[in-house]
Amino acid sequence: MKGIEHKIIGVIIFILFYYFKLFPEIINNFLSNYFNLAIGFIICIIFSGGRINSKSLINFGLSPDNDFHKKQKRSIIFHSALFPALAIILIPNAFIYLISFFYSLHILVDLLNPLSFEGKRHTYFLIFISVILFFVMIYTY
Ligand SMILES: [Zn+2]
Repeated sequence: MKGIEHKIIGVIIFILFYYFKLFPEIINNFLSNYFNLAIGFIICIIFSGGRINSKSLINFGLSPDNDFHKKQKRSIIFHSALFPALAIILIPNAFIYLISFFYSLHILVDLLNPLSFEGKRHTYFLIFISVILFFVMIYTY
């Protein structure tokens, strides 16, 4: 899946989750003023898709697809929710929660679309577990 498609899904989730207050409480509180809302929106666009080495602004991003590997050789470390989970344990603030949320959302979207996911079956399972654990964590931690 292309970075731009990931971003579009990210923006839709952002709007829905903001409107219906479905984010974890720490993020809901953070987004309660317009300045933070703008910051949250920018985080959503940058982290839900795109690559750092992209020359066009629209495809630029700090998403999990930045491991620079071919699809089949994706680094399971980067293309899983391992780092987001560690980040919110080490630095539990709303900013980190937002970044981790959209970074992990990217991976979740990849999992839902097996055509864009070229990993082996056990890799898929490990990544699936990491994403589930991450989302359970942010809604209970
Ligand atoms: Zn991806």
